[in-house]
Amino acid sequence: MKKNIFKYVIFVILMAIILSGCSIKSNGTTVNQANSDLKVSKNAFLLNTFNTITLFGTDDGSYFEAIYDEVSRLENKLSVHIEGSEVALINNYAGIQPVKVSLETIEVIEKSIEYAELSDGLFDITIGPLVNLWGIGTDSPRLPQPSEIESALDLIDYRNIVMDKANSTVYLTDKNMSIDLGAIAKGYIADKAAEKMIELGLKSAIINFGGNVVLLGEKPDGSAFQVGIQEPDESRGGIVGTVTAKDISLVTSGDYERYFVQDDVRYHHILDPYTGYPTDNNIKAVAIIATRSFDADALSTTVLLLGLDEGMALIESLDGVEAVFITKEHEIYMSDGVKDSFKLTSAEYTVVD
Ligand code: ADP
Ligand code: MG
Repeated sequence: MKKNIFKYVIFVILMAIILSGCSIKSNGTTVNQANSDLKVSKNAFLLNTFNTITLFGTDDGSYFEAIYDEVSRLENKLSVHIEGSEVALINNYAGIQPVKVSLETIEVIEKSIEYAELSDGLFDITIGPLVNLWGIGTDSPRLPQPSEIESALDLIDYRNIVMDKANSTVYLTDKNMSIDLGAIAKGYIADKAAEKMIELGLKSAIINFGGNVVLLGEKPDGSAFQVGIQEPDESRGGIVGTVTAKDISLVTSGDYERYFVQDDVRYHHILDPYTGYPTDNNIKAVAIIATRSFDADALSTTVLLLGLDEGMALIESLDGVEAVFITKEHEIYMSDGVKDSFKLTSAEYTVVD
């Protein structure tokens, strides 16, 4: 935690410097806006990541309390890392009894099951035992023994989540099962933060939860926002290009977000429930654009697991969803609907038609 606070202080200082210019940059995305307009920004460390919310057309910072309260309220239900959260209770009572939960938790689990069905179980929130085994993103990640991976794989199956919507309960059938909403909760909470803003009468804002971006409305001058897609090779730290858009969410997943290195091999945090190892295909990162951040978040993880061909086929089969894929060979592939709004800014990447 100490390390996190240290990083946070550095982050806040950097944010202050960057914001005095004309762009916001945070873990995965950069956002530019007209610098003559009124705006107010606030950073926080929540949802296990760095967050920035910027409101446009106002300089009243008093809005943030209600917005961040909403974020914390939902995090306290959905985070597997928070003792007593609804998700922690579901896991604690696995194999024992159904747990009564709120509508919000039901909604996220229901959507997660939809994406599990859509991806033939590649996206699967019962990944908990495998996530815990690897410990990626914790202070003690490790390469598990094959036998440990085998045992964890036996526990992963979203069909063993018993959801009773009428009674608002969730039950996991095996006592060693556990769910982890890390691949979808941030998107859900970002949507809820945007809803709160609308409730407060706000019309123009950018939410950035560690690369999970929501563009609320448009800039006060009526033009679209510009969102940068981070270059996944973190040693460079620039962007590969920008997407110009309004009223959408853009969520990036990549193998560079959380990982550890052992014997020169990099192990990242998106795990394949069929093999038990970090997924390994031609995609380095993928940005999903959708109306709701909820869908964009689930899909960014799902598509990273599917790889380029199957991922592109899935995106093209869905309405109102677009994707920008960055391959390990520095190529960029896009779904049809984003081609006009994407602008390449890095000479090290090539757009493939
Ligand atoms: P980030 O957390 O960097 O925004 P993602 O949205 O892609 O990235 O979510 C990754 C997280 O999802 C992991 O840290 C883990 O908690 C969880 N996860 C890992 N593999 C899977 C999987 N196959 N299906 C569902 N969730 C997963
Ligand atoms: Mg995700």
